[in-house]
Amino acid sequence: MIYLDYNASCPPPPAVIDVVTATLDDAARGALGNPSSSHAAGRRARAIIETAREAVADSADVAPRDVVLTSGATEALGLAIHGTVAALERDAPGAARPHVIASAIEHEAVLAALQTEVARGRIDLSIVAPDAEGIVDAGRVEDALRDETRLVCLLAAQNEVGAVQPFGAIAALCHRAGAVYLCDAVQGPGRGISLASIDADLIAISGHKIGAPPGIGALIRRRPNALVAMIEGGPQEGGLRAGTENTPAAAGFACAIERLAYDEDVEVARCEGLRARLVEGLGRLDRPVSILGPAERGRRLPQTVAVHIPESDSEAIVAALDLEGVAVSAGSACASGALATSHVLTAMGLDERAARGVIRISFGWASTEADIDGALEALRRVLTRF
Ligand code: PLP
Repeated sequence: MIYLDYNASCPPPPAVIDVVTATLDDAARGALGNPSSSHAAGRRARAIIETAREAVADSADVAPRDVVLTSGATEALGLAIHGTVAALERDAPGAARPHVIASAIEHEAVLAALQTEVARGRIDLSIVAPDAEGIVDAGRVEDALRDETRLVCLLAAQNEVGAVQPFGAIAALCHRAGAVYLCDAVQGPGRGISLASIDADLIAISGHKIGAPPGIGALIRRRPNALVAMIEGGPQEGGLRAGTENTPAAAGFACAIERLAYDEDVEVARCEGLRARLVEGLGRLDRPVSILGPAERGRRLPQTVAVHIPESDSEAIVAALDLEGVAVSAGSACASGALATSHVLTAMGLDERAARGVIRISFGWASTEADIDGALEALRRVLTRF
């Protein structure tokens, strides 16, 4: 199997598997309990949770108390959006309806949560389009600002095309305007964008995008604003996220984050090499293809390549590559039986036909030159049939 879908989920490295397995072994022996229990097994679990919190906090340069562990980025983003809007309504009843700005290339987790708030009549929403390379110009966000703007959502790097966004300029803009900046940084860590470099008020991250098991993520509160909890129950996570913590995943999360800390520069350089090999190979296919998004380093992720194959059907190509043992993603998603065109690609100006001919190849720590060559060979074979 050649796995080139790291932006969907990054395989856990051996060190992560070891700590998660050890945690489960401890639980099986009765040495690890519920982190809220006061006995030794509970205290052991609590220590693992707090170590994960500290690892996230250190990597973002915030205090551990400003990290809310969640089930993943979708939940962190939902807490940030619904929690902020609910707190505004609670704390300023009768005030003008809050205005929110979001880019058109946010993940569905952001766009769906915002649409829900629009439907509830709790916010006015402005959507800002990216340019043809998938980058949102800070000037466009500035133009959309109003006196009532309370929240701005712009991700750090776009997951489908890898375009890196001007999060520094947006942070400065939001601080001047007194708006909360929520940055979805899921595709940042391990891909050359450190959390410490993101000066957003709220930052969402996901464990399984950096090699932790699925089921863990975090909302980082660099400048904590008022938030109302979305999941109610016990007092976990400072009252912002009830429910028993995922101790095995937290152990893996801490390990994955610590691993990034000493590996990242080398890994980014290695991925740049793999990317160059892939792009060169794509240029030698019998059929002309083009790479979407920015070409220059720094303006794009090192390990994400969105390929437009004219007059093709990406779902069919992904299925054919799957049969060849190669895992990549389509730039469009099949929802409830109907082929939905990617909102990101259409926002970048691709028409529906073109957007249906885009595949995403993304790689990471376990990817090798042989994987890239094998995927190119499989693609060459597949394209003779489409
Ligand atoms: N945001 C971005 C940019 C993503 O790529 C993803 C996952 O694809 C998410 C949010 C959702 O993350 P999770 O799977 O942790 O809910």
